Amino acid sequence: MSLTVVGSVAFDAVATPFAARERMLGGAATHFALAASFFDDVHVVGVVGDDFSAEDEAVLTAHKIDTTDIEHVEGGKTFFWSGRYHDNMNSRDTLDTQLNVFETFEPKLSEASKAAKTVFLANILPSLQLQVLEQCTEATFTAVDSMDLWINIAKEDLLKVIAKVDCVILNDEEIELLTGEPTIVSAAQALLELGPSIVIAKQGKYGAGVITKEGSFWLPAFPLNEVHDPTGAGDSFAGGFVGYLAAHPERPVTLEVVRRAMAYGTAIASFNVEEFGTDRVSRLTGPEVVARVQHLASITQFDDTTQIDLRR
Ligand code: AMP
Repeated sequence: MSLTVVGSVAFDAVATPFAARERMLGGAATHFALAASFFDDVHVVGVVGDDFSAEDEAVLTAHKIDTTDIEHVEGGKTFFWSGRYHDNMNSRDTLDTQLNVFETFEPKLSEASKAAKTVFLANILPSLQLQVLEQCTEATFTAVDSMDLWINIAKEDLLKVIAKVDCVILNDEEIELLTGEPTIVSAAQALLELGPSIVIAKQGKYGAGVITKEGSFWLPAFPLNEVHDPTGAGDSFAGGFVGYLAAHPERPVTLEVVRRAMAYGTAIASFNVEEFGTDRVSRLTGPEVVARVQHLASITQFDDTTQIDLRR
């Protein structure tokens, strides 16, 4: 079994109210791959410049992530993104986006990447997502992420992608923007009508909800005392969620399995935000993930079997 992800491999500059980093490894595909590597063999399809060092690549290969399809453009510079978080750590301003080699990115998939059973299309130009999807003919589970930029300027192509995938993972504002619906539930239902069987609405530090035709499930984020850097939380969540489903290949996916996948995504995302960039997830261990999933289960369960006579 294997999982292919296409998306950004980047250098990020991040400032929070507490600290800042001027340049660290990031990118949606990077955060996703590190999280998904707990569950399956991961192939990353992306592009970098020659400022991307062997040390950067080793962050991925240390976890047996296949980087063969990360193209190195000679004389080029790696995609650079810079953001500043507000005091609530849930919203941020993008200060700078330098596409660099990403501007002319044409995903090139090896036979191994094309043969993956699971495919994640991280946030890139929807027409490129379509190209990748068309090449992955063996996939039994496909998922897509996107952002407001593509909803605003490439909505038609994004809707074509959505019609072809099994799962859409967006934040709550994005699914409302995309569908024009006023609530997460009505927006998710509108997306289910387009073809996918699973829609996830991420809600930042408030957690995430998943809506399927079988029903829905809602999970808060794991409560942490301190959050150091929320960058990549959504991609780590997606990596945990999609990775869990890759490791549970019975299809169609049931809501019961989706609920557990949500817990793994939520747990790994909570580690991601404890430190800057990839620092925490790159040294995270399986037993730590399992312990946090169990902790999450214990603080979100309640017993509704006790009888109470309500007064009216
Ligand atoms: P998240 O915090 O989950 O939204 O993911 C942030 C990651 O996405 C960062 O590591 C950035 O490098 C990357 N990123 C930011 N903007 C873009 C963009 N326009 N296209 C692709 N990746 C991006």
